[in-house]
Amino acid sequence: MKIIVLGAGVVGVTSAYYLAKDGHEVVVVDREGEVGQDASAGNAGLIAPGHSYAWASPAAPKLMLGSLTGKKTSIRVKPRLDPALVGWGVRFLRECTADRARRNTLVKHRLCRYSHGLIKSIAETEGIDYAAETAGMFYLYADEADLQAGFEKTALLRENGEDLRLLDAAGVIEREPVLAHLGDRIAGAIFGADDASGDCERFTKGVANRCRALGVDFQLGRSIHGLRESNGAIEAVQTTNGDIAGDGYVLACGVGSAAIGGTVGLKVPVYPAKGYSATFPIREDGECPSVGGVDENTLVAWSKLGDVLRMSSTAEFAGYDRSWRKDDFDGVLETARRLFPTAAHYDQGRYRACLRPMTPDGPPLIGPTKLRNLWLNTGHGHMGWTMGPGSGKLVADVIARRAPDIDMAGMQAR
Ligand SMILES: Cc1cc2nc3c(=O)[nH]c(=O)nc-3n(C[C@H](O)[C@H](O)[C@H](O)COP(=O)(O)OP(=O)(O)OC[C@H]3O[C@@H](n4cnc5c(N)ncnc54)[C@H](O)[C@@H]3O)c2cc1C
Repeated sequence: MKIIVLGAGVVGVTSAYYLAKDGHEVVVVDREGEVGQDASAGNAGLIAPGHSYAWASPAAPKLMLGSLTGKKTSIRVKPRLDPALVGWGVRFLRECTADRARRNTLVKHRLCRYSHGLIKSIAETEGIDYAAETAGMFYLYADEADLQAGFEKTALLRENGEDLRLLDAAGVIEREPVLAHLGDRIAGAIFGADDASGDCERFTKGVANRCRALGVDFQLGRSIHGLRESNGAIEAVQTTNGDIAGDGYVLACGVGSAAIGGTVGLKVPVYPAKGYSATFPIREDGECPSVGGVDENTLVAWSKLGDVLRMSSTAEFAGYDRSWRKDDFDGVLETARRLFPTAAHYDQGRYRACLRPMTPDGPPLIGPTKLRNLWLNTGHGHMGWTMGPGSGKLVADVIARRAPDIDMAGMQAR
């Protein structure tokens, strides 16, 4: 079959990889001139099954409401007249019960664990260096009561096989001596022993190179403005430089998926959650952490990606706006300087805002649609680096009508 993959982020490229391995003729289309340049290049780099909690939870409505009244909350909403946000928001609120949060978390967790295994196996099989750091991950707390409450919350993932441990401050410093200067200013951390970090963009480029060797045709620099349908099937992808036709199509355009699906009447419930991402060159004479993590007080995440330190923060429902101001990074810089004062050249930061493709319930959308030759692989939200390669394999399994390696309940296109 000739399959057109729309989108060359980590999700599209790993889909192309598995489809090419199945013997399909594959074309990947993206508006950027290089693969992995959107969310896949801006993320925090954490490969974190230990962080697979669904955002839609009983605590979320209060946070969102708080943000509307001006409070600095972890999830923020910028009030706007956007019917797509309203529709998405209503579905999100419906998922905020304890039962649904639990179910959605476990679906994501299953996919995260499966996908982490595939990241490692693709890298090993194909010889891809993605600056992996595999010594675990910290969820760092300043307050003892918050740490205990955070650890209690991990019971669900621990019961499902995740190795999450409670560390006091000394235990944290033993594993990451660069935090020693904080002394008793940290209470401790939850340590995700199976979590890791790595450079998603570098991994995506490595997989794309392997795809090229398998014969995949990358049509980059081509902006997609729609799909053309006839008799319940897609006939072609419409791009700024003409149409591209195939036998099958995989929509993997991250936050661009809803608009493209909409051109053939498909409702793809994916809405952007904006985040801010900063990248600093590491100082040779400084002390940089090798274990990645999240500062649970400021919700700033960090990871060492080769010779740079990546820090990211914020989840803001602000439409498709990617603009940023220098002061959007005040929190990131404060956390970076407080935790790792000598790690990097903080005056040489590269800054950007990027958009997480969020579904209302949390798990991505993988599988068939009402159009018989169109499959979705999108909506990976805040965990798409972790879940991407697993999703690539699953969509190839669905197209091949092969039994998937894991139960896909809760992940299908819906
Ligand atoms: C600040 C931040 C921090 C994050 N941290 C983590 C983390 O630590 N761990 C983790 O697992 N995940 C993290 N994520 C999430 C992760 O980055 C995403 O879920 C993942 O990159 C999604 O991959 P994707 O391939 O679906 O989307 P993208 O990487 O966004 O790729 C989509 C592609 O589609 C293309 N496209 C879109 N529309 C069109 C169009 N009309 N025409 C042509 N091409 C189009 C884009 O150019 C792009 O290349 C984070 C995200 C953000 C924003």
